[in-house]
Amino acid sequence: VIILAFESSCDETSVAVVKNGTEVLANIIATQIKSHQRFGGVVPEVASRHHVQQIIRCTDLALKTAAVGYQDLAAVAVTYGPGLVGSLLIGLMAAKTISWAHNLPLIGVNHLAGHIYAANLVKPLKYPAMALVVSGGHTELVQVSEPGEFTILGDTRDDAVGEAFDKVGRMLGINYPAGKTIDQWAHEGQDTFEFPRAMLEEHNLDFSFSGIKSAVINTLHHAQQVGKTLNKKDIATSFQKDVVEILTTKTRWALEQYPSQQLIVAGGVAANNGLRTSIQQEFGSQLEVIFPPLRLCGDNAAMIGAFAYIKYQKQQFSDLTLNADPSLDFAYLQEQ
Ligand code: ATP
Ligand code: MG
Ligand code: FE
Repeated sequence: VIILAFESSCDETSVAVVKNGTEVLANIIATQIKSHQRFGGVVPEVASRHHVQQIIRCTDLALKTAAVGYQDLAAVAVTYGPGLVGSLLIGLMAAKTISWAHNLPLIGVNHLAGHIYAANLVKPLKYPAMALVVSGGHTELVQVSEPGEFTILGDTRDDAVGEAFDKVGRMLGINYPAGKTIDQWAHEGQDTFEFPRAMLEEHNLDFSFSGIKSAVINTLHHAQQVGKTLNKKDIATSFQKDVVEILTTKTRWALEQYPSQQLIVAGGVAANNGLRTSIQQEFGSQLEVIFPPLRLCGDNAAMIGAFAYIKYQKQQFSDLTLNADPSLDFAYLQEQ
């Protein structure tokens, strides 16, 4: 079963060809980061225009790379939320057009289910699986009890972890997106700052990163006022160490309560080296830990094709009225 998949929820235009939900035949990713950097974040209008310019080129390239034609496809899949509405609409329009023109079933995919199923492209999921989703807009602990069956165990109450990385990075003078540079600095500096880890005092599985983010920003402001220069690499080191500790601790609590066959770490922040090391050390001997390769951690259409296969098997198709749902909540996954 070969599925053509589209992802255009944010600032990556991606088109992939995925076989049986496990094998990537092509995964074309056109990133727009350069166009957004001078604004310090993603500008929705700019993002939409890029998607329009890139999507046909990416589609042609994906089919060519995979060496398949429309007649070889079983379905067309597309992210319909969450994300930027204008951006989502471009992917939807492309997918719907192909679905209609080539008489192929259409599959709407939740972007976050896609992030989790990126793991399926590394190794088939084993159920029940525990997923730690750490991305630009989300921080969640999710139990996957069966294929496509999700239960949210912990959620973010304010800032997502990637957002915290980006905001702290901005204060440190790092270009958007800042996660990767903070990660590098964190291996060059020393852990000399103490920031609050309030969430660890509450014994639940929810996350909050606004406290630690504000503490870092206050520390920097205060130093500025008294004319003191702080070692930015030390701040990055201390910040990352605390964030990794919060993520690792809450994951441990989740695994204690919900015995799992696999632990999946998904989303853009799963690229973080400190997090990878900590999670691997902590849980590697206890269960199978899957970190998708970097290319599959960030936004990409292969992960959308991976999850679409689950919906294909359940014959969960959409019709051409499928619309963008910018605030498609992770909670919706539970109702599907
Ligand atoms: P969502 O998936 O929640 O809709 P998104 O798609 O914008 O949000 P992703 O593309 O999955 O998010 O991830 C982007 C985030 O990952 C950015 O915040 C970026 O700073 C962060 N990131 C990337 N690499 C690293 C790293 N090595 N360490 C920490 N954070 C990182
Ligand atoms: Mg992105
Ligand atoms: Fe994402």
